[in-house]
Amino acid sequence: MCSRKSIWSVAVPSPLRRCFDYLAPSELLVTPRPGLRVRVPFSRRELVGVLTKCLNSDSVSSTVKLKVVDKVLDEEPLLGGTLFRLLEWSSRYYHHPIGEVFSAALPTLLRQGGGVLYRGQRCWLLSDAGQLVDQEILKRAPKQRCLLALLGEYERLSDQQLSGHVEGWQAPMRALREKGLVIAEQQPEVSKSLSEVIPELNSEQSVAVHDVIAGLDDFHPFLLNGVTGSGKTEVYLSLAEKVIEQGRQVLILVPEIGLTPQLVSRFQQRFAVPIALMHSGLNDQERLDSWIIARDGRAPLIIGTRSAVFSQIKNLGLIIIDEEHDSSFKQQDGFRYSARDVAVMRARLEKVAIVLGSATPSLETLHNVAQGRYRELKLTQRAGDAKPPKIERLDVRGQYMEHGLSNALIKRMHQHLGNGGQVLLFLNRRGYSPTLMCHDCGWSVECHRCDSHMVLHQHERRLRCHHCSHEVQVMPACPQCKSTQLRPIGQGTERIEEALRQHFPEYGILRIDRDTTRRKGSLQVMIDEIHEGKHQILLGTQMLAKGHHFPKVTLVGIIDAEQGLYSADYRAIERMAQQILQVSGRAGRADRPGTVMIQTHHPDHPMLRQLLEQGYTTFANTLMNERKESEMPPYSALALLRAESVEKSLPQAFLSEVYQLAMAHGVPDVLLLGPIPSPMARRAGRYRAQLLIQAPQRGALHRLLSPLMLQLESSKLGRKVRWSLDVDPIEMY
Ligand code: ADP
Ligand code: ZN
Ligand code: ZN
Repeated sequence: MCSRKSIWSVAVPSPLRRCFDYLAPSELLVTPRPGLRVRVPFSRRELVGVLTKCLNSDSVSSTVKLKVVDKVLDEEPLLGGTLFRLLEWSSRYYHHPIGEVFSAALPTLLRQGGGVLYRGQRCWLLSDAGQLVDQEILKRAPKQRCLLALLGEYERLSDQQLSGHVEGWQAPMRALREKGLVIAEQQPEVSKSLSEVIPELNSEQSVAVHDVIAGLDDFHPFLLNGVTGSGKTEVYLSLAEKVIEQGRQVLILVPEIGLTPQLVSRFQQRFAVPIALMHSGLNDQERLDSWIIARDGRAPLIIGTRSAVFSQIKNLGLIIIDEEHDSSFKQQDGFRYSARDVAVMRARLEKVAIVLGSATPSLETLHNVAQGRYRELKLTQRAGDAKPPKIERLDVRGQYMEHGLSNALIKRMHQHLGNGGQVLLFLNRRGYSPTLMCHDCGWSVECHRCDSHMVLHQHERRLRCHHCSHEVQVMPACPQCKSTQLRPIGQGTERIEEALRQHFPEYGILRIDRDTTRRKGSLQVMIDEIHEGKHQILLGTQMLAKGHHFPKVTLVGIIDAEQGLYSADYRAIERMAQQILQVSGRAGRADRPGTVMIQTHHPDHPMLRQLLEQGYTTFANTLMNERKESEMPPYSALALLRAESVEKSLPQAFLSEVYQLAMAHGVPDVLLLGPIPSPMARRAGRYRAQLLIQAPQRGALHRLLSPLMLQLESSKLGRKVRWSLDVDPIEMY
């Protein structure tokens, strides 16, 4: 608690790594406590900041020049308690400005200074008149008729659900309300749980649940290492049930909600309780509503993507991270934090258990298990009657391939389709082909703003750079030699789809990638259609590979598995293995056995062989030994300093200055590698360079970074470039 006549230290969203002092307001209606939002003047603007500390006026050298806090916005601290300490820790660990860290922890409306007002969702249903009306009278208003039919089918639909299904539904819905055919209500918080059959846990699942329950009352980190389809989600559900019974809340972090709608719906079906959902598909008010019910303890379940790790939770009892290896837990711009790692720190501060679940755990987590810091719980069998899929390597060297599909794969697809199975094909590259090349002179289309090829999107006749927004029309002839022999080189999903339509005209084919799912809600519609059996051949990028449970899929084809084998990024091969196993996990998840076929030009690559013949654990061990020898994480700590500028020489010049400053600190054992141009040396018109900082221990890294970051704030060169620090980087570009 602070004395009323004091100086307030306020975290203001600014790129400076410190708090700012203000005089407390003269009239004060609330007790000043850390975590309260305040409105303060800041270089000719008004900003919303967070009170972090009250200082005695004696401890500040001069109070004359201090400005006064304009207004206190809250009665209770919004970011108080353990969360406050977590945010301070995050700011220190990631060396990110404290004001921006606090700001990132608040939903947009609160960040802007709005009040903590719960609205609840509006939803629509048919009135009595609407139930009886003859839909023929709406013949001239097809949109209204469609809405009536939808409400007839689903009973009640929220604004959010409608936006996902019907574009421009608002005006026709208003018209229906004016006619008295529909009514709007505030959504009840609790949706009824659909009585679902709850499977009895098998012995491995029971052991896992039992052990976590025994560790709930203190900080206990667990790795739930379970092959795909082994019933990890069932374990989460059982754990959640126990924690809810104790009157506590469960925080569940998932990589991307859009890609794992089934996890959310399984929680919705199992529990008749309010769920605070937190993800980017929500509007600002929905997000605030979720934040409020989590904070007030009204929602026993909080399910969200990475930023949910910073939500205020009244009575946290357990944290679950699904697919802990997934790279989307790492924020790749601005405040670059790993939600998984922050979650572990949160569990430690809150003294609760945390479960990291995966079929392909990250090497960091496996290392923590090996060091005895995390306990491993294993699920080695697929749940129910499902059998593990059979994985075959398909040597395509010298084979005739049409648009990237080998005859062997096509033949096998025919067999599975003929037997009534669904087939899933995976290729993590959208567009028609990764480039367009002149057959006569070898010229190919490059982005003039990036060191990268333009991707051909045949259907739209356009070339698009996937690294910046640049796009152009497909040209009729080669600009260099005027030849018209411009040919697509390589395959993307669009091209595979075209080939599939020629080979399998009698089957429903569905392509799922970012191009086909741009419209909000469209992915969900497609997933529903897959379950209804409307499509037999599913083709897609990683959007299709994660977490889904498609019981009818019996064959999975991986079209090009080797993108990771020869990459310069030391993590590429780990990612490749995780991807192969995740995709393979989509095969044979029900009573029919599954087969996976991997097309490859390198069937004898030792790492690929080991992965497929001996499994992920052995593979990961080999990789771990390599990392140990090369002193890469988890056997060292890394930070990557990136700089970019439209002027070619500046990034390198700035990083050279950083290099000099860092050397002057003389922290022993710290290694500086660079500066060097980034692997993609030019992107969106900017030149890029990087400096890698490596230390055998994290402590040494922080001892250097703390003073260094403060120095860089006053670097003149630093102001001329865009620079950023990435602690524990997972992408090396
Ligand atoms: P994972 O999350 O590990 O991929 P899921 O929890 O989705 O696995 O389980 C895969 C399938 O097996 C689901 O359909 C689930 O209902 C079923 N299942 C899970 N546990 C059991 C069990 N103990 N007995 C029978 N079926 C189960
Ligand atoms: Zn040419
Ligand atoms: Zn570009």
